[in-house]
Amino acid sequence: MLKENAIADFKANLRGGLIEPGDKDYDEARKVHNGMIHKRPRLIARCADVADVISSVNFGRENDLLVSIRGGGHNAGGLGICDDGLVIDLSPIKYTRVDPEARTVTVGGGCTWGDVDQNRVGIFSLPALDLPRTLM
Ligand SMILES: Cc1cc2nc3c(=O)[nH]c(=O)nc-3n(C[C@H](O)[C@H](O)[C@H](O)COP(=O)(O)OP(=O)(O)OC[C@H]3O[C@@H](n4cnc5c(N)ncnc54)[C@H](O)[C@@H]3O)c2cc1C
Repeated sequence: MLKENAIADFKANLRGGLIEPGDKDYDEARKVHNGMIHKRPRLIARCADVADVISSVNFGRENDLLVSIRGGGHNAGGLGICDDGLVIDLSPIKYTRVDPEARTVTVGGGCTWGDVDQNRVGIFSLPALDLPRTLM
């Protein structure tokens, strides 16, 4: 059983914010690309950075919660979101880092293709998709 004071501590330490049923942005936050999926998580941790992800994983483990990771929200089966558990929501984490020497591109876990800086990854001639909302 989740204790309210444990939730309050968790919330106080999250930079991105914690969303619970009844919050005004709850229904928007639990949406995924597949409009047929309507799961109702107990908590949605909006992660602003790696520290938020670490706190969320620890909170889920310590409280024996079902955990789902939400990236772009495009998994067709809606596996980025779960009923009654904790959603670790990476969608605010969006960045594009290019290492020309290593010829690698690293993008934030919340990126869909449209979030990736096309000008910067263009040097690698990656295939141009016409689906800006999908992942790569
Ligand atoms: C219209 C459409 C077009 C698409 N086009 C392409 C395409 O061109 N190329 C392509 O490669 N794919 C495509 N896909 C597939 C989709 O983009 C992939 O499934 C992609 O990997 C989804 O990533 P996401 O970050 O959006 O996942 P999310 O929906 O955010 O889901 C999170 C992922 O993490 C996993 N996960 C969740 N919780 C856990 C946990 N506790 N432990 C371990 N894993 C966990 C889930 O299984 C899921 O895979 C398309 C899908 C759609 C709906």
